[in-house]
Amino acid sequence: MTGGVVSGLGKGITAASLGTLLKARGYKVTLQKFDPYFNVDSSHLSPYQHGEVFVTADGAETDLVIGHYERFINECLTEKSDITSGRVYSTVIENEREGKYDGSTVQVVPHITDEIRNQLLKFDDDTIVIVDVGGTVGDIECTPFLEAFKQLRVLAGADNVAYVHVSYVPFIEMSGEQKTKPTQHSVKELQNVGIQPDVIVCRSDYPLETGSKKKMAAFCNVHTDCIIENLTSDHILEIPMMLEREGFASAVLRKLKLDEREADLDGWKSVLKLAYAAEKTHTAKIAVVGKYVEMHDAYVSLYESVKYAAIDTRVRYELIGVCSDKIDKHALEKISKCDGIILPAGFGERGFDGKVLVAEYARKHDIPCLMIGLGAQAGLIEFARNVAGLKKAYSHEFDSNSECPVVKRGLVSFKKGACVTFVKSGTKLAEIYGSDKIRMRHRHRYEMNEDYAEALEKAGLTVSGGSEEGHIDAFELRDKKFHVGVAFQPEFESKVGYPDKLIRAFLLASAKPVK
Ligand code: GLN
Repeated sequence: MTGGVVSGLGKGITAASLGTLLKARGYKVTLQKFDPYFNVDSSHLSPYQHGEVFVTADGAETDLVIGHYERFINECLTEKSDITSGRVYSTVIENEREGKYDGSTVQVVPHITDEIRNQLLKFDDDTIVIVDVGGTVGDIECTPFLEAFKQLRVLAGADNVAYVHVSYVPFIEMSGEQKTKPTQHSVKELQNVGIQPDVIVCRSDYPLETGSKKKMAAFCNVHTDCIIENLTSDHILEIPMMLEREGFASAVLRKLKLDEREADLDGWKSVLKLAYAAEKTHTAKIAVVGKYVEMHDAYVSLYESVKYAAIDTRVRYELIGVCSDKIDKHALEKISKCDGIILPAGFGERGFDGKVLVAEYARKHDIPCLMIGLGAQAGLIEFARNVAGLKKAYSHEFDSNSECPVVKRGLVSFKKGACVTFVKSGTKLAEIYGSDKIRMRHRHRYEMNEDYAEALEKAGLTVSGGSEEGHIDAFELRDKKFHVGVAFQPEFESKVGYPDKLIRAFLLASAKPVK
């Protein structure tokens, strides 16, 4: 799947939707993203650049689109689903240093292009791999990827590869016309590298006119029924349904000479029905307090999780972003009008004091508060300082010589991926997850310090979860409606129709009946 004309067309969601539709037909499906940038993975990328870093169960730090894939096909993906030019080139250079190329001159073709195909997931005969090629066709950077995948048709056999091109069809308000020329040009670019698209998905704000479809079919050499309309939608979960009505999956299956089967989309439809039609019996206004709140993509998994939880619980909710490095009287007033507070994960000192202040505010006013990662560390430090009398409580992350490291360097230098948390029975956490052992995804260097557990418990806190290394993984306050901190990030576990239980419980604790 390639993208044309401009970036930001939602190609990732289109790919994820195709996954949903093929899976609904009983096909085994997986997804892979090939990105043209040179970062080897997303670990060093600022949220300002690419939004959230999504963590897979095997501990890879990936592009946020991997999160959409997981949520849409309801499966866990791995490190192998997120390939970048950085990964490909560094492998080739390593191979060269090890003398693996028999003295030959190492070049983009064939060495880089071969390595790109090497990174394709190995799969069973009956698995469909949806390969989402990042970048825009025509960019210098994505040319090696296009070259590699062009060769695939010959190597794998014509019926085993389908090319989908996601393009843009603008509408010029002034002349009142829909324009297909950008798509024609972008398909020409694709044909220049030897790829003839089989299906063209047209992103558009308005329905495609019959004339536009015909024109694109003729100029781009594609059947009219393989021109798929992909209208702008304000609900992400609508997109697979819309593409199903357009015959997207069927067009792809025809090209692959695979059986068209009936799609079982009942589960998905019932989620949508709940989202739209179900009466909302409760409402909740939720404050999200973090330093990237002005950027939607920085907390996208969290927002999606809250959405799925709200659908499931019939809660009408509103998210209010509050910037954690500006927690003044004004900000607290805004928070005071909210029914619940989320302190999300994060790195670095900026905004940390704000999170500490908000955790204190939530505790004092008994506003339901879900604290995740750095948010939980802030909540623990707040409690230590203000309730347990540990005035100097702090984190090794911000003061490596802290004399009261309530948050300390962990035994594992950087904990990433799914790990076990032992849940203490009788706690809220145990009740929510219904288990004494859970496996959740982590991404942190620092740990809530078990050496202070006794002092904190004496002051009224309950350690509700511990890690295999013995660190504090979760805590809660007994006498509050909902004041829960967790080292792991529950938002990475939610799938469409299956919201994470902790986020769901938090939302329910925050919600109040509609008057
Ligand atoms: N920065 C903190 C750490 O590394 C918290 C990370 C997180 O929020 N997951 O421990």
